[in-house]
Amino acid sequence: AKLTNEDVRKLAKELGVKFVRLQFTDIFGVLKNVAITVEQLEKALAGELMFDGSSIEGFVRIEESDMYLRPDPSTFAVFPWRPMDGAVARLICDIYNSDGTPFLGDPRNVLRRAIKEAEEMGYSMNAGPELEFFLFHLDNEGRPTTVTQDKAGYFDLAPVDLGENARRDMVLIMEDMGFEIEASHHEVAPGQHEIDFKYSDALSTADKIVTFKFIVRTTAQRHGLHASFMPKPVFGIAGSGMHMNQSLTRNGENAFYDPSSSDGLSEVCLYYVGGVLKHAGAITAVANQSVNSYKRLVSGYEAPVYVAWSAQNRSPLIRIPAKRGSSTRLELRSPDPACNPYLALAVSLKAGLDGIKNKITPPAPCNRNIYEMTPGERAALGIGSLPENLYQALQELEKDTVIREALGEHVFNRYMEAKRIEWDRYRIQVHPWELEEYLTKF
Ligand code: GLN
Ligand code: MG
Ligand code: MG
Ligand code: MG
Repeated sequence: AKLTNEDVRKLAKELGVKFVRLQFTDIFGVLKNVAITVEQLEKALAGELMFDGSSIEGFVRIEESDMYLRPDPSTFAVFPWRPMDGAVARLICDIYNSDGTPFLGDPRNVLRRAIKEAEEMGYSMNAGPELEFFLFHLDNEGRPTTVTQDKAGYFDLAPVDLGENARRDMVLIMEDMGFEIEASHHEVAPGQHEIDFKYSDALSTADKIVTFKFIVRTTAQRHGLHASFMPKPVFGIAGSGMHMNQSLTRNGENAFYDPSSSDGLSEVCLYYVGGVLKHAGAITAVANQSVNSYKRLVSGYEAPVYVAWSAQNRSPLIRIPAKRGSSTRLELRSPDPACNPYLALAVSLKAGLDGIKNKITPPAPCNRNIYEMTPGERAALGIGSLPENLYQALQELEKDTVIREALGEHVFNRYMEAKRIEWDRYRIQVHPWELEEYLTKF
């Protein structure tokens, strides 16, 4: 059962909580914290704590800056790595305007709206991410590098895997904080790791992703390492993805499963796939929000490049894992762990619902290796490509009224504005590659 305000009061007392961190994210998914002492908990639970919204990226301007935090009691958790005497707890919050209405620019509210739309159609979304990240060494001054000393690869075991101790600690902390860890392993690149936790409803999953990143970063730090969720930190080796497994339930049953169809997939599942493929370009602008994201979405490193789906191979954007029954789901392979999980889940869900509403039938599944096809073969099968850079992705987002509606005008406008500036800042730089290529040539 979900915790209530009453439970939070009791637990805080029982566990000797001294400080409470009130958390939320800005529109780019960056975690924000307001620390209060337990004496202020009552006021916080009543939703009476105010903060200045104009200092948060993508929120509001100075003139309208008074905003209120409303803690979601079900997110109460104690940080296990802090001293138990004077414990520190956190609560994830929803953001409200001073007139008592929910703030539409709050990413958690964006996801809540998509979930509500699904509910009105009779569905709820489950989601389970697979987060990948690098553990890098620090230099003599304690600054992060991109150096990894381990030479391990996929599923390798210690002693080659130097990050193993750090990763074990991360898993233990997550379990203490209520995560059910399903797998944790070394990934293909040196210094790259993956930890998978059990799926849950979309909102809890987004909350958990934010918490996950926070745990991984602080734990790495305590091990003298730097954890990075940057999508492609090192040229020439695999980047880090965040595969997003997703499914819908209806009356408690998996709505993607149909035992009477030849592949075990329901019509609802196919339409959902159709919707996600249709809106893939605009989804990319949200699920791959940095300039660097697009350096991961290239061929040769198990990251998707083409807009297609398959039950059998791992090259397309969407893969349908073999499990059926209550595990029937699709795996969206494009998101990277630097995205805002609330927005990424909201736009995927919205795209899937659009597929269901409009009965968007996906093209035939593509069971061949798409990377080995010629451009002509791909064109004949109607297989498009994901945007090649942030600029292209933003163009797609601008055209896509369904995905824009999922974000809402507030988030859409702020997001576009900030991302266009980011793209321009990048575009006018002279990069080391250019100097190497042209300085002596011309
Ligand atoms: N690292 C790959 C990516 O960028 C995924 C590898 C895998 O989990 N198969 O998406
Ligand atoms: Mg995996
Ligand atoms: Mg992986
Ligand atoms: Mg996967």
